[in-house]
Amino acid sequence: MKISMSKMNFNESLKKLEEKYKIYAPKLFPYAGRFSDTDLVRYAEVSTIEEMVFDKKSDFSPKEILLPQSETMFYFTEKEYKEPDVEEKGTLVFLKSCDLHSVKRFDEIYLKNKFSDIYYSQRRDKIKFVIVGCKTGFDSCFCVSMGTNIPEDYHMGINIREDEVELEILDEGLKANFQGQDKEFEIDKVAMNKIELNVPEEINLEDVINLDLWREYDKRCVACGKCNFVCPTCTCTTTQDIFYSENENTGERRRVWASCHVDGFTDMAGGHEFRKKHGDRMRFKTMHKIGDFKKRFGYHMCTGCGRCDDACPEYISFSNCIKKLTAVLGGEDE
Ligand code: SF4
Ligand code: SF4
Repeated sequence: MKISMSKMNFNESLKKLEEKYKIYAPKLFPYAGRFSDTDLVRYAEVSTIEEMVFDKKSDFSPKEILLPQSETMFYFTEKEYKEPDVEEKGTLVFLKSCDLHSVKRFDEIYLKNKFSDIYYSQRRDKIKFVIVGCKTGFDSCFCVSMGTNIPEDYHMGINIREDEVELEILDEGLKANFQGQDKEFEIDKVAMNKIELNVPEEINLEDVINLDLWREYDKRCVACGKCNFVCPTCTCTTTQDIFYSENENTGERRRVWASCHVDGFTDMAGGHEFRKKHGDRMRFKTMHKIGDFKKRFGYHMCTGCGRCDDACPEYISFSNCIKKLTAVLGGEDE
């Protein structure tokens, strides 16, 4: 079903949907950005289309909804434990095509990787995705090279125009909530990015493990982990036990985001630490994003969103790293 409707009527429909769903979209937080005079765009609950920010790239991705930065797995006392209550409402997430492709990667890791993660699957079962058309992308995007510019498996798609919203509604449960005039249109897609990459189809660790190019990152990368935290496809977590000060035998176990760039990620019993050099950590991440994941699941993990480039305080560009690697391996780039 393809229709168009005014923004005012669209907001009325959102209002009705709020009875059943929590609605998330990128939202502007003034002066909450990296510097005191910069803004932050991150996913949060919204009620109107005017609150949604799609003309700027969100600093953080919708993975915050699928896998919260910090999540309580269970509460414990001396004798028993209890898992947190599950949210009864469904979730409606407005996102761009590249970020919906990152959900596919999350599903591989958290649902299809031998085990199904109960916390993830409980949340995932209740989510519906609304694709928001994207025509041009942003300076650091390379979604076309990664094949994530074409949306797949969405419940509804919209183009936000000046005076109206165009809707393609595929989900039966959502159809009754939107009434408008029939209209023929296509959801906007990015046809070309400023950054074009020729990503190697297959990378073998023995061909790249000792390359000089990783040494550039030994000093340049300060191991802050920002690139991992903003990445929509970084899925690693660690666990922390929090003991309440009133009674040290009670508390909660949380899982929180972890970063393969940060000190301590590879610490093992006996004081062993793999990948001490920051450049080796860059190699590990690169192999994961454009090598190992593909060997296992058939497509690259990186979606080309470019958020890691935007966030890095040392101006390290992941797309440049891929270009350098392609050149060393005999591809055309650089
Ligand atoms: S471009 Fe960077 S942040 Fe985006 S998916 Fe790839 S590695 Fe992650
Ligand atoms: S954001 Fe930059 S400096 Fe920080 S860990 Fe990532 S590559 Fe290194």
